[in-house]
Amino acid sequence: MSTTSVHGWCLNSIPKKAFKNSDLTSLRPHSSIVICRAPPSPVSPPRLIRSRPVFAAPSPLLTPPSQEVGNTMGPCLSSTKTAEMGKDSYEEVIAGLQKLLSESASLKPEAVQKIEQITSELKGAVAEAVSPTVEKIKTGFETFKKNIYEKKPEVFGELAEGQSPKFMVFACSDSRVCPSHILGFQPGEAFMVRNIANMVPPYDQVKYAGMGAAIEYAVLHLKVENIIVVGHSRCGGIKGLMSLNDDGSTTTDFIEDWVKICLPAKNKVRSQYGSLPAAEQCSKCEVEAVNVSLGNLITYPFVREGVANGTLALYGGYYNFVDGSFQTWGVNYGFTPINKI
Ligand SMILES: [Zn+2]
Repeated sequence: MSTTSVHGWCLNSIPKKAFKNSDLTSLRPHSSIVICRAPPSPVSPPRLIRSRPVFAAPSPLLTPPSQEVGNTMGPCLSSTKTAEMGKDSYEEVIAGLQKLLSESASLKPEAVQKIEQITSELKGAVAEAVSPTVEKIKTGFETFKKNIYEKKPEVFGELAEGQSPKFMVFACSDSRVCPSHILGFQPGEAFMVRNIANMVPPYDQVKYAGMGAAIEYAVLHLKVENIIVVGHSRCGGIKGLMSLNDDGSTTTDFIEDWVKICLPAKNKVRSQYGSLPAAEQCSKCEVEAVNVSLGNLITYPFVREGVANGTLALYGGYYNFVDGSFQTWGVNYGFTPINKI
């Protein structure tokens, strides 16, 4: 049985029997979703089996410099892919056995019973393999519920009726810079957008509709009073920006086009600090990119109006987790630092 012939089931094509007592199908939706999105094969595949690989090999995340991004985005995605492929070997075997069962009319009862036993054991192994993940989520929520949710019934009772945050926060998706942790925002206090390198794109109803919707909702409907864009040290996204090919060519589907939002920051840093070591240029760019985002915020009419009316204030922020400092500054016809903690 070849790998490609058994990779990936379409959930819709699996008979209900296959779901009974099946931890596998309830815990592993991703590969099935991927397969369901694939266009139908010109040749009818055998029932249960699609002759398409589950994992299309993506292009390299970033050009060679991304290797140095190291502990940020690249290796995380790579390790995830490796883990997925590891788990898939279980699915491969189980899928093959279930195919045998689906064609079991010619099999002897003892053979059917043995196949069912092996299939059941393999499913148990898969469930055991993913249980630490489920346990992590379960423990995390139980801790939150016990220590926070149940101790503040009045807060969560009020939040159940609606939210009225005073802050909108743009922060990087980096796992080390969660604003709730580093700035102590409690539930209901901050409306957040997290993305690669905490960037705010300019107003564009087509290209950046998702970002525009979030800003519009925060400003016009939630009526936040402050928007803060928080950059951070050793940002992989900014490193990617600084490593962009000068000819504009890209090797990624999304990442490089996204970080190009802050190309003006890269150009300014290259122009003013081009003689500094690469790491220091990245640090300069991490701050300057925040300023570009603050400038882009003004391109949204409702933001511009709020700032002009004095109902909305914009702030830049920079969290340095290397030396444990946080810096903020306001937009005042210049981006002069006003406070360092
Ligand atoms: Zn970052």
